Amino acid sequence: MGKFPEAENRILRNIFICRKCKSKIRTTNMRVLAKKVSCRKCNGKSFKPMRKK
Ligand SMILES: [Zn+2]
Repeated sequence: MGKFPEAENRILRNIFICRKCKSKIRTTNMRVLAKKVSCRKCNGKSFKPMRKK
């Protein structure tokens, strides 16, 4: 559990979910937008940010 809400938020923002296989990838927003990220499992290139419940 994060002690600092801001830090936790920042960590969550850097986690993305693969749209194909739903696996979590930790990377930065910038890299996702630049399409430099590929999924480890399915090699997919589309991700959505993980949302906080
Ligand atoms: Zn995938």
